[in-house]
Amino acid sequence: MNAVWIDTETAEAPTATPAPEPGRALKIERETHKLEKRLCRQVGQAIVDFNMIEAGDRVMVCVSGGKDSYGMLDILLKLKARAPIDFELIAVNLDQKQPGFPDHILPAYLKQLGVPFHIETQDTYSIVKKVIPEGKTMCSLCSRLRRGILYRVADELKVTKIALGHHRDDMLQTFFLNMFFGGKLKGMPPKLVSDDGGHIVIRPLANVAEKDLTRWAAHRQFPIIPCTLCGSQENLQRKQIGNMLRDWEKQYPGRIESMFTALHNVVPSHLMDHSRHNFKDIKTTGLPSDDGDKGFDIESFALPTLPGLQLVSA
Ligand code: SF4
Repeated sequence: MNAVWIDTETAEAPTATPAPEPGRALKIERETHKLEKRLCRQVGQAIVDFNMIEAGDRVMVCVSGGKDSYGMLDILLKLKARAPIDFELIAVNLDQKQPGFPDHILPAYLKQLGVPFHIETQDTYSIVKKVIPEGKTMCSLCSRLRRGILYRVADELKVTKIALGHHRDDMLQTFFLNMFFGGKLKGMPPKLVSDDGGHIVIRPLANVAEKDLTRWAAHRQFPIIPCTLCGSQENLQRKQIGNMLRDWEKQYPGRIESMFTALHNVVPSHLMDHSRHNFKDIKTTGLPSDDGDKGFDIESFALPTLPGLQLVSA
């Protein structure tokens, strides 16, 4: 089954010898083709790894008008066409009546795609404006209202899964936000039960890098709707963490990939949460273990390879 979700042909074969410099247009076409294959492979992999979509599922794809949710719908439609199982997709947009929201764009786009869709119109903007004093951030109430409405719509549309367009970088940012400001090792799960206990929420873009979604959106010329219409300030902390991660990646290429891989490889016995590991009853086993601590050594790691970086021995 996996072979069809994840097209093995999509693996990017390393080019042994550099091809002669093609024309620019040809080069762009090749890169775009590789990007499409990578996106399909990464989404397919997430679906398989976390059993996100099953036969008979009716998936509500939340579309905001931003690049990420357009990308998610686009890739899910491609995968649906070749998936080994039958499932339905229904695109849902919540029009919150933000001033200047161009409410014709999404219906026109979705109609042209030929995907079933539903536009829910609820003026949460006026409620939030009425309740939150001027100058205070509106996001927390706004998103609470939005969540409640989307859960109700999910019930009305009888969907079995709700798909959100968060990507790998959102997940890493959330991980660091929780660690820096919330005192928790906690990220953004690829699949979870909603807070009201009634819905399964999936994040098919869990493996996808934001920069790939940006490139895909430009290539597909999605009719992007700006996300600043509400006038609320951007989440400053999230922005700072995003900048920090980008700076790290610039300084140490590959660091984001490594951190993301780390989210898949948790070792509770080497953390300090006694609810996850029974430290109290630890006993010697008398058996050597490759995973055990090597005496009292501090673990060492390969240094990042950076242009111009040299190890100087004392
Ligand atoms: S940015 Fe605007 S639309 Fe988004 S959650 Fe905040 S208040 Fe709501």
